[in-house]
Amino acid sequence: MNVNQSAPPVPPYGQPQPVYPGHHQSSYGGQPGSTAPPNPYGVYNGPVPGYQQTPPPGVSRAPPSSGVPPASTAQVPCGQGAYGQFGQGDVQNGPSSTVQMQRLPGSQPFGSAPLAPVVSQPAVLQPYGPPPTSAQVTAQLAGMQISGSVNPAPPPSGLGYGPPTSLASASGSFPNSGLYGSCPQGQAPPLSQAQGHSGAQAPQRSAPQQASSFTPQASGGPRMPSMTGPLLPGQSFGGPPVNQPNHVSSPPPQALHPGTQMAGPPGPPPPMHSSQQQGYQLQQNGSFGPARGPQPNYGSPYPGAPAFGSQPGPPQSLPPKRLDPDAIPSPQLNELPPQQKTRHRIDPDAIPSPIQVIEDDRNNRGSEPFVTGVRGQVPPLVTTNFLVKDQGNASPRYIRCTSYNIPCTSDMAKQAQVPLAAVIKPLARLPPEEASPYLVDHGESGPLRCNRCKAYMCPFMQFVEGGRRFQCCFCSCINDVPPQYFQHLDHTGKRVDAYDRPELSLGSYEFLATVDYCKNNKFPSPPAFIFMIDVSYNAIRSGLVRLLCEELKSLLDFLPREGGAEESAIRVGFVTYNKVLHFYNVKSSLAQPQMMVVSDVADMFVPLLDGFLVNVNESRAVIISLLDQIPEMFADTRETETVFAPVIQAGMEALKAAECAGKLFIFHTSLPIAEAPGKLKNRDDRKLINTDKEKTLFQPQTGAYQALAKECVAQGCCVDLFLFPNQYVDVATLSVVPQLTGGSVYKYTCFQVENDQERFMSDLRRDVEKVVGFDAVMRVRTSTGIRAVDFFGAFYMSNTTDVELAGLDGEKTVTVEFKHDDRLNEESGALLQCALLYTSCAGQRRLRIHNLALNCCTQLADLYRNCETDTLINYMAKFAYRGVLNSPVKTVRDTLITQCAQILACYRKNCASPSSAGQLILPECMKLLPVYLNCVLKSDVLQPGAEVTTDDRAYVRQLVTSMDVAETNVFFYPRLLPLTKSPIESTTEPPAIRASEERLSNGDIYLLENGLNLFIWVGAGVQQGVVQSLFSVSSFSQITSGLGILPVLDNPLSKKVRGLIDSLRAQRSRYMKLIVVKQEDKLEMLFKHFLVEDKSLSGGASYVDFLCHMHKEIRQLLS
Ligand SMILES: [Zn+2]
Repeated sequence: MNVNQSAPPVPPYGQPQPVYPGHHQSSYGGQPGSTAPPNPYGVYNGPVPGYQQTPPPGVSRAPPSSGVPPASTAQVPCGQGAYGQFGQGDVQNGPSSTVQMQRLPGSQPFGSAPLAPVVSQPAVLQPYGPPPTSAQVTAQLAGMQISGSVNPAPPPSGLGYGPPTSLASASGSFPNSGLYGSCPQGQAPPLSQAQGHSGAQAPQRSAPQQASSFTPQASGGPRMPSMTGPLLPGQSFGGPPVNQPNHVSSPPPQALHPGTQMAGPPGPPPPMHSSQQQGYQLQQNGSFGPARGPQPNYGSPYPGAPAFGSQPGPPQSLPPKRLDPDAIPSPQLNELPPQQKTRHRIDPDAIPSPIQVIEDDRNNRGSEPFVTGVRGQVPPLVTTNFLVKDQGNASPRYIRCTSYNIPCTSDMAKQAQVPLAAVIKPLARLPPEEASPYLVDHGESGPLRCNRCKAYMCPFMQFVEGGRRFQCCFCSCINDVPPQYFQHLDHTGKRVDAYDRPELSLGSYEFLATVDYCKNNKFPSPPAFIFMIDVSYNAIRSGLVRLLCEELKSLLDFLPREGGAEESAIRVGFVTYNKVLHFYNVKSSLAQPQMMVVSDVADMFVPLLDGFLVNVNESRAVIISLLDQIPEMFADTRETETVFAPVIQAGMEALKAAECAGKLFIFHTSLPIAEAPGKLKNRDDRKLINTDKEKTLFQPQTGAYQALAKECVAQGCCVDLFLFPNQYVDVATLSVVPQLTGGSVYKYTCFQVENDQERFMSDLRRDVEKVVGFDAVMRVRTSTGIRAVDFFGAFYMSNTTDVELAGLDGEKTVTVEFKHDDRLNEESGALLQCALLYTSCAGQRRLRIHNLALNCCTQLADLYRNCETDTLINYMAKFAYRGVLNSPVKTVRDTLITQCAQILACYRKNCASPSSAGQLILPECMKLLPVYLNCVLKSDVLQPGAEVTTDDRAYVRQLVTSMDVAETNVFFYPRLLPLTKSPIESTTEPPAIRASEERLSNGDIYLLENGLNLFIWVGAGVQQGVVQSLFSVSSFSQITSGLGILPVLDNPLSKKVRGLIDSLRAQRSRYMKLIVVKQEDKLEMLFKHFLVEDKSLSGGASYVDFLCHMHKEIRQLLS
């Protein structure tokens, strides 16, 4: 290779660009429709066979024979899926029973008085499932009461996973042992404390508050005998009545009627929360796992136990200081007969179950296609498999709304507090059975639009005057129909050609854009991809560079293509860098690639034009040669410092010089501390957690990246960032450009080829292959009365209406919030039109249009009846995750809780039939709002555990920002599947169970996934045969904890489980790395983090406790 060390003078940017082969605008002028792009999405449904060649499977498969994993063993996921390293603070398996005992008196009010969750609202029509009869409700009530029955104090021991000592030893050896390599660790755990608790107080399983129903369990033996009951499909989904027997059989029910209880405490609402108050106070001593507050080892960074964000004050402020009226001991405690003082609790089976709701929707709505012809229809849940037939409204795959019924007035909307928002995924991938949007070509005249508001022609436009004019459905303006577009109307006033034209009959379609829609009135060139590889010491040493260069050789054949194109129109370029940048000339006429070094990073320029961006097929030999040479050239590097902003700058300048849009793939390893623009310092400071300055951890440390992002957006330069950090790299700052340019960030903490290659390769392939729209602008228009006022996602906005996206792929969403401008009309409803102007992968300029009509209502009940909780949660999570940039995290949590309480209180007040104040009544469509909201509240961004790093939080924060509804759904409430319960021959996915430890049986194996992480949990009592079939070892103890891959075995169970894992991975947009976790093993803490119905170690409330808290909040609002 020729290395030209001295940078040549600035090249003549102005010089005319070569004509790029492969760009044939004309070939796309035509035809869309059904004949168009067959199915560009097929490739995502699994690994492309062609790839298998590269990494021999064996490479990534650590031999399971390594026995007990020495702490440093490769299989232990370092910063993998769980995005983080789990510190020692998490070790304790659960609270001690003492705590539980102490909670008892406090718990009293939960069960006895106020809370009788009645989720169904009989008076209200229920879209999902059969309406509960009043009998059902009564039964449920009865169930509640009974379930709140007294339980004997738990047996002093035998409830835990093992003797206290085992706990202690587990904790002792947990993370510090080097499992997580050099990655940042949590603080040292209060081992002695943990032991103290475990020893002094009978060990207890976690999820203490729920233990009563399932109390007696022998450690090691089959646990939770009653559990299998509820989990069996037939039973667990049977609804409240089915659950009855369980409760009835429990010890002397107090059989108190809610009303009775209520009568007891006159005056203020029964302090149901007092239980929590007391409970949480006591939990300081253990119920939340390792005691938090009082222990010396837990410094300020750790939040106090209080789960609800409603507690002010730093963690140190111990419970007694809490000022909460409900903390005052409840009077009725003393009035109750002694037996009832022991414990009251809510039966987890009697509170709304996500699994049940998902299952019901699948059963009720999964069999028939969702036809979009009717205005204001609520689509099936995102968890239901269904087909969509476009009959005039956009498919829910493109747009989902928080409500499909908008209040007519802003007063009503304010009263209900239900955010009105749409989660829009303009380029969503469709299943193969559904056709991509038709492409409409109106020739030189371009798409037909309203003269006033510029809305595009759509099925809701009204043709009048015999078809000579049309009235805009958005602004009511009357427009002339151009002669070439004229058509007669039928007797109903409809154009006779309506069904021949997608824009008159479908919810979604595309227009071919004319030159008027192009920058500088010039049709765009096809986009380019630039691969920019960090070749500093860390990148070389970890094997990353070698792996990447090898992979790129084959990957370049999978650049996105359009329609039936033979080869991709996308050109590629290569840069390597550490403190300086190396550009490569890979022109096809060269025998060898040429390197040009630019060391003046302060004033970045591109040293070559000709030969930098090339067609893969033409320059293949030179490219292959380059990729072979790069790892060798830098093999002996000692350079540890990197730059970052100049890298982006260089890529962007190169695209600018080539006058095209494109994408930068940056592979980066470290905090850019080299002297250069965008230089960063390590400003990580965990002490800021729970202070007013915590927000600074999420903010970029310099404004340089925003400015750079703005330039990138102007150029249509999208940045995808692959991070391989061994320590803090300031994700909050590094992700600014990807975030603002519509790009993606991937993070592989402590990357090691043998452990992480499969995940990285899979993510990279998908990322390179995926179809992207470049240089895009999105505008959402609405009919008179409402207006888009706020936007969430990965994009840039330079004004208040246009969402600018340097790139947009099929996975990213833009969430739009609407507010009232004026009164809406029930009759005409409300309309949304989302128009996305973008450049396709082949360089074609297009407009994609999505239309959606919503109903408007004057009755609040209609609003609550047509809501979608999953979308609501998506919006609320994004709202909260943006909020942490500007407000203390606690304020953000409080805001969410208050809003949720207001939503539910408004329902209770205005829509529910009269009933005792002691009952919690939730709207049918929102009965999961509390459980899901709690998951958001205790997520790592809003309530981090000790093990979650600042980078992890910033990473997740930006990920969630552009997630779609299905992704947030499973991310916040993971899917937990029993693997060994259903018959082995069953080909369907096993029914999921609720994410709570209480639902696990030690004789079974479970799989858990949340879209980013994938776990297999193995119970200690699993049959040997099963262990053998799955892990190829003879006993539980021989299973390697932290195993990252299942052995390929020729038996039905192994095939089934591996097949399931493959299918789950194919469903998610990122590769989920597997971790095998054994019951009672130290890694189990990783897994338990995802059992979101339980209390979390970071202080997050259990579902039951949160529901009680919600109830209290609602009652306060109502009183
Ligand atoms: Zn208009």
